[in-house]
Amino acid sequence: MKSARGLKKRCLGRVALCGILLWMACPGLWAADGGETTVDPSWEYERWKRVGEAAAELALGSFEKMGLRPRKGDLVVMTNAGYAEVDGRSTQAVLDGLASVTGSSRGRHSLVEVHSAPWAPLWCAVYDRSSGWNVYLELDPSRAAAGKETAVAGLFRPAVMERIDSEHVLAHPSSWDLKIKNKVFGGNEFRILTIANAVAAGAPTAAVRAVEFHDHYCPGVASGILMAQYLKAHFPPGEGGYFVHAVKPWCKEDALLVLLNATPGKRAYAVDYPTKEDEAGRLPEASEAATIVYRLQKDGGGWEGRVLAFSWAETPCPKTGSALMDKLCADLWYLKQMEHPERYVKVLKDFRLPDGVSPRDWAAPGVDPLKMLGLMQTGKSEK
Ligand SMILES: [Zn+2]
Repeated sequence: MKSARGLKKRCLGRVALCGILLWMACPGLWAADGGETTVDPSWEYERWKRVGEAAAELALGSFEKMGLRPRKGDLVVMTNAGYAEVDGRSTQAVLDGLASVTGSSRGRHSLVEVHSAPWAPLWCAVYDRSSGWNVYLELDPSRAAAGKETAVAGLFRPAVMERIDSEHVLAHPSSWDLKIKNKVFGGNEFRILTIANAVAAGAPTAAVRAVEFHDHYCPGVASGILMAQYLKAHFPPGEGGYFVHAVKPWCKEDALLVLLNATPGKRAYAVDYPTKEDEAGRLPEASEAATIVYRLQKDGGGWEGRVLAFSWAETPCPKTGSALMDKLCADLWYLKQMEHPERYVKVLKDFRLPDGVSPRDWAAPGVDPLKMLGLMQTGKSEK
């Protein structure tokens, strides 16, 4: 054990050099203690921060090769660092490495943390909003595997550079459909294109938060952002916030979860997945019912609820037949509507729960809140 500790000490003394040059060249990184393997947290932090710095330097180098010298303030950095894991290890420190080289920041929405599964490959995208070019970098997990001696910059697959500003993309639908088919950004094309263009268009904080959690920006999540905006303005929260019950779930749920802090874990969010038959059994006035939102009235007045629908707009976007083009165009159009949620969010019914009844009672298994509200055709809902 003594020799392992000594080796670790010497290794930590050389941490800077090891971190800059090589990935796992320092043999004392892993210290055996009582049969358990441990990792020095500061070593681990420095190493992953260096990975982030290397990604940013590779991206800036790619711009330079194209004759581009983007201003730091024009860069939007997107990554799943912190969510993606490599060999079960956190990649959180990559965020600090990316920020230190690019000058990107959470406060300016120029460092966007895109949700992913821990098993998704670690990726970073650096978008220059002035030129419209984006550099995509993805870690090669086999090179980053524990014990491999690889220069940090060599951990990434070759950088991919594409012009992704909406003006250019919308003018080249067939070429972008092919690029998506070929997964030029490792399957992250839709999320990178929609998020980069939304941030470049000045997406408000609420939209960025929702989009980060949802992992892409689509009209569905835009409807959830608008619904949250509507609630804040026209149905302010009661003490303890809201209870939300989705009676027709779609991408909007992820926006409502994040923006209202109403979550299932806090027993404040319920979701029904109605069948086609369930939906067909709704009365015409409830056919578009999407979400029921509850709040507590003041002075012990019990719960009141509001049944909401979302009216999709006829956007001026042309129907190209390309899902990416149509959604990207609609996304950017909805972004301009964020100040006018009442144009799209419709109230179907206001009601009060009987004394002593909570929204959770109406979200219990076998209870259909629309049936309780008399909004189902008799005998049609069997829930
Ligand atoms: Zn979506």
